[in-house]
Amino acid sequence: MVSKFLRVKCSKCKNEQVMFEKSASTVKCLVCGEVLARPTGGKAFMTGEGATEV
Ligand SMILES: [Zn+2]
Repeated sequence: MVSKFLRVKCSKCKNEQVMFEKSASTVKCLVCGEVLARPTGGKAFMTGEGATEV
């Protein structure tokens, strides 16, 4: 199983950052603190403007 990293874009401030696909904790925007993804047990759930594989 290959671990993937995703590039997510903050819907609030348009900041882009890279996160681990199976993040076990809530991922917040490093700039404004907006929640970008929440753990669901499997893949992290994206709340931002979508994610692209890095
Ligand atoms: Zn942001």
